Amino acid sequence: MANLSTARHSLLGPSVPSKPLELGHFMNPYERCELCPRECKVDRAHGERGVCNAPAEVMVARAALHEWEEPPISAGAGSGTIFFSHCSLRCAYCQNAPIAHGGVGRAVSLEELAGMMLRLQNEGAANINLVTPTHYAPSIREAVRLARTRGLGLPIVWNTSGYETPSAIEENHGIADVYLTDFKYADPERASRYSAAPDYPEVALRALRTMVEAAGNACFDNIRGDERMKRGVVVRILLLPDGLADAKESVRRVYSEFGTDVVFSLMSQYTPPELVIRANGMPDDQKKRLERLPELTRAVTRDEYEELLDFADELGIENYFWQEGGAATESFIPDFSQAVNRP
Ligand code: SF4
Repeated sequence: MANLSTARHSLLGPSVPSKPLELGHFMNPYERCELCPRECKVDRAHGERGVCNAPAEVMVARAALHEWEEPPISAGAGSGTIFFSHCSLRCAYCQNAPIAHGGVGRAVSLEELAGMMLRLQNEGAANINLVTPTHYAPSIREAVRLARTRGLGLPIVWNTSGYETPSAIEENHGIADVYLTDFKYADPERASRYSAAPDYPEVALRALRTMVEAAGNACFDNIRGDERMKRGVVVRILLLPDGLADAKESVRRVYSEFGTDVVFSLMSQYTPPELVIRANGMPDDQKKRLERLPELTRAVTRDEYEELLDFADELGIENYFWQEGGAATESFIPDFSQAVNRP
């Protein structure tokens, strides 16, 4: 077991109106949205909203260097992270609720989004890290292409909940270099209870197959003396309270199918809602949902986490990212009131 990481990924900025982006597609993919496995088929281009509640215009909550991802993702000056507003999975325990559930952020044009990528490159970013791009994927791909014509040369990290369609991953060909993906549940009942997505285990496994085919084995280079991931797939498994058995089964299932073709990141940073609310508040509908899930009120214990790491060791997984410090404390919560609106 190697101590490779303490990974963090949660920040946002305030909501400011902006002009919608313009798409160059013959068929507008937002008109009958099937961008994720929810397949809502709503017309986002004309104001309808699906499960993700996202409009057709890309909304960004924050774009900044980020030092708390896994080390080869946050290499050098940090990961050039762009946080997108809204989310199609909408987990009850979401640590970024104001962004994912509350939709904090502002609409940006393709030009502006490409400009953010170039600015992050100029600031020394190791990569462009797109945090939950799924529900804006066609626009984001266009922005990456545009940025590349203007000199973007960094690896693109597709940072996803894992709830993706294989076709969406295939359409990332030539765009995404690294997949930084969750594998949240092996148990359909837990996937239903926390994310209203009983199909998550099978959907995420199918998506993962496509990611592994697309990105291949992990490969690295060097940036300012740090190892940087250039291609490959990192699978994040977040241990939830009372979730040890499911986390173990997730590790077992992914390892038995993909072995060393993926890199594991076993995470203990689950933050109880009380701390999330104290730091940033939380949308009322999410608070109500959490009232029905009392098991989520506590952090995971060090013993639970150690048992998960021991399990990975026993399976024979030789290298994986893990987190020091065990359970989350208040200090892990970003102060959203101090967030900088610099998308
Ligand atoms: S991206 Fe949003 S609207 Fe489209 S299918 Fe997924 S949840 Fe529904």
